[in-house]
Amino acid sequence: MTRPPVTIRTGSPEETAALACRLGDRLRPGDVLLLEGDIGAGKTHFARHLIRSLMDRPEDVPSPTYTLVQVYDTRLGEIWHADLYRLTSLDEIEELGLAEAFASAITLVEWPDRLGPTAPAGALRLVFETDAEDENARLIRFCGPAERWGEVLEAFADD
Ligand code: ADP
Ligand code: MG
Repeated sequence: MTRPPVTIRTGSPEETAALACRLGDRLRPGDVLLLEGDIGAGKTHFARHLIRSLMDRPEDVPSPTYTLVQVYDTRLGEIWHADLYRLTSLDEIEELGLAEAFASAITLVEWPDRLGPTAPAGALRLVFETDAEDENARLIRFCGPAERWGEVLEAFADD
């Protein structure tokens, strides 16, 4: 069962970063986050702050635009950060090792539409939209299967 989506409005990049840290605290290996939204919507910003918040010594977290995947060692084990905008075939998903990462690591995927049928069913979807009235605000919609994400979304919805 999918829980009804929770939408959170952030008024600045800092608020989005704080939200990313809060979600990071609740993740565990095997979790997959699918980050959707147009260019500039804030997907990389969110991923960067989530990953950095889980590092003992924060490192640079560049956008994986060209490498497609970057892997980080964190307190919660490996975090894989993927940007599949430039993916050319579904075979590449296997070649990049993403199929295994979905099962054993924490994986954040920008442009997850490129995964087609290989998108994990248990993933949490985050849809980023720019607020038409304020260029520094974003609407971030969270939705995912209640079994894994119900409690997490409940906590976010209550704020
Ligand atoms: P994407 O990966 O979705 O293409 P980026 O994260 O690279 O987007 O860029 C988002 C840009 O929007 C950043 O420059 C960030 O500072 C800016 N921004 C402005 N307001 C916000 C906000 N509320 N949340 C996230 N990013 C914001
Ligand atoms: Mg990006």
